[in-house]
Amino acid sequence: MRILVTGGAGFIGSHVVDAYMELGHHVAVVDNLHSGVRRNVNRKAIFYGADIEDPGARARIFERERPQVVSHHAAIAEVANSVVNPTPTFAVNVVGTVNVLQAFGKVTGVRNKRFIFASTAAAYGVRKRNPTPESAPLEPLSAYGLSKVMDEAAIRYYADLFGMRFVIFRYGNVYGPRQNPQGEGGVVAIFGGLLQHGEQPVIFGDGRKTRDYISVEDIARANVLALTKGHGATMNLASGRQVTDRQVFDTIARFFGYEGEPRYLPHRPGEIMRISLDPQRAARVLGWKPRVMFEAGVAKTLQALWSLPSR
Ligand code: NAD
Repeated sequence: MRILVTGGAGFIGSHVVDAYMELGHHVAVVDNLHSGVRRNVNRKAIFYGADIEDPGARARIFERERPQVVSHHAAIAEVANSVVNPTPTFAVNVVGTVNVLQAFGKVTGVRNKRFIFASTAAAYGVRKRNPTPESAPLEPLSAYGLSKVMDEAAIRYYADLFGMRFVIFRYGNVYGPRQNPQGEGGVVAIFGGLLQHGEQPVIFGDGRKTRDYISVEDIARANVLALTKGHGATMNLASGRQVTDRQVFDTIARFFGYEGEPRYLPHRPGEIMRISLDPQRAARVLGWKPRVMFEAGVAKTLQALWSLPSR
């Protein structure tokens, strides 16, 4: 297949590119290296250093590549920053996404077009129950979460307008090698970087805030399944388990033999207190289940991030 991955120089996008290339697909990457890095991009992929906010560059790339599948991972994925300074988040995540949808929709002569999208647990905001099913109300607490809710609506609209297939994934907190410490699941990389040197990490809140962690390996596998399955489905990709900030700290502290305590600072606005996502729809629709358990996945991530010997 001819596949175009936006954000393919970033943490998750680069793993998705690798998974597609391993299966022999033709992959082109569009990324402006805002937070991504060139060395993340698979050497055999075609790389376009372009901004999805720029309609001219983008239209030329789509005409040239004529993709059958677009896997859209380019975004500004900074929850707390998006509350303080929302404009760049809306510009890239909403206007950029609409640009990509239009450019893809307008390419002529390509059949069975499919758009795969990286949405987020942050779309849900305050909910009534955990694990959260996809049918829960979308009440985001951050401009970032809101931008993704707007994207989901735009995808349905353009898919209908242009007759495209689509799959929307709502990821939990993704962690793994090449993780960007600024991103949503960045806490594993941040704590790891500090604890490796015996430095004290900060926990915002009282340590009981929870997230649902999912390994990038599992995410990449779901993106492969979505090449042929799941048309029109919106699916959580998560473990269904809540892990507290304190548990993340303890897991990494144990790994490095750190015996100190974290420093606690006030809770940051825009952050959800407790969350886990129900992954059953992805199991039904794609036959996908998470395979990597949190503790084992964190150990593997820390080894890869800092090239440590396995324990
Ligand atoms: P990342 O920052 O590593 O990747 C985003 C990529 O998009 C980067 O390579 C960046 O350079 C690129 N980009 C940003 N603005 C661009 C622009 N204007 N034009 C072209 N490229 C641009 O983040 P990530 O964690 O890999 O996230 C990838 C996607 O998954 C994002 O859409 C994010 O919202 C979503 N997501 C991530 C998580 C997570 O836990 N990391 C959770 C839910 C959803």
